[in-house]
Amino acid sequence: MRKIAAVTSPGIQRRAYRTVTIDQVIAGWVPDINFIVPICDEADASQIEQLAARGINNLAWIKASEIELGDIIFPVPEKGIVDVSYRCSDTHHTLFVTNRCNSNCLMCSQPPTKEEDGWLVDEAIEVVRHIEHSPQNIGITGGEPLLLNARLRDLLNEIERRHPATQIDLLTNGRRLSEQRVVGNILDGLTANVAWLVPLYGHAHMLHDFVVQSPGAFEETLEGLLRLQQYGQQIQLRAVLIEPVLEHLDDLCEFIGRNLPFVHEVALMACEPIGFALANKEICDLDLKDWWSQLTGASRILRRYGVRHLIMNAPLCALPESLWPIASRSISDWKQVYAGECEGCELKSSCSGLFAWHERGWMPTRIMKIKRSVE
Ligand code: SF4
Repeated sequence: MRKIAAVTSPGIQRRAYRTVTIDQVIAGWVPDINFIVPICDEADASQIEQLAARGINNLAWIKASEIELGDIIFPVPEKGIVDVSYRCSDTHHTLFVTNRCNSNCLMCSQPPTKEEDGWLVDEAIEVVRHIEHSPQNIGITGGEPLLLNARLRDLLNEIERRHPATQIDLLTNGRRLSEQRVVGNILDGLTANVAWLVPLYGHAHMLHDFVVQSPGAFEETLEGLLRLQQYGQQIQLRAVLIEPVLEHLDDLCEFIGRNLPFVHEVALMACEPIGFALANKEICDLDLKDWWSQLTGASRILRRYGVRHLIMNAPLCALPESLWPIASRSISDWKQVYAGECEGCELKSSCSGLFAWHERGWMPTRIMKIKRSVE
């Protein structure tokens, strides 16, 4: 989530606002959506305040250089900032719904906390209500969203109701779908268009449970995957490419091909250099160039079983050319950057680039611009 410096209407409180022009307010005002209008000067502010004084109490103004029309924001006036929870012009959209988790993964990018944070899903539902133009996809992430139980279903229903054509990408460890009560609450009668993104780090419980630091997780996740299949849900399996996973990647791919052929696709993901990954650098900080034979071998096995697969978060110059066609430009806009060395790279427009915080962590490889054309 972006935080941007802003001055807002006096007395404003934290609640969702849709950023619009004054003409859009006049043309499309409704009582159950909050509108905020970017202003340039005092005259603009007083026009908004006059309208508010006449009883239009869901209208406010904002002065901020980085605000964009279509943004859904939450003002934090005491800090002189607003949280931009949704940016219309982004390619990737994500709703962060809890920081609690029942796993403790070695490379977790968002280390979990224990505090009750039900307000996050309340705000996520408000964001969904305030989005004007339905996005193609919207991600749901945490923490572990299934810990929200029925409240997660409320969010899925709200997205479906307001944005029926939007695909929901729900990132979950799937463990709680081993509980009948949770299955009933979340999956019974579910008609929202959901893709379930479920991490699986090994072909055996010892490896998976070690990576997620939770005994019993492998069995629970497998049970969850079978439940999702039973309910006809679309599943993307995810493996983060840290050392123990790469060492047994061929076994994992064989396991998937033999036992989980119903999955829609498998995503092999470069590790994000943040959170617990920084504390477990010895197994997370690696150069994918040193693992090309494992990556090409994994792709070969998945191809043999007819399992669709892709590589995420990896710069193209970290991969062999044979894998470029399956590399996805996947890092969310707000956390993606390129290195100085990327200037002039012929593949820049299709490359994932780097996580913005790579400087605090590490480079995923030695960045080398790609030039294929004959000079
Ligand atoms: S040089 Fe930069 S843009 Fe080119 S492949 Fe490497 S990371 Fe991507």
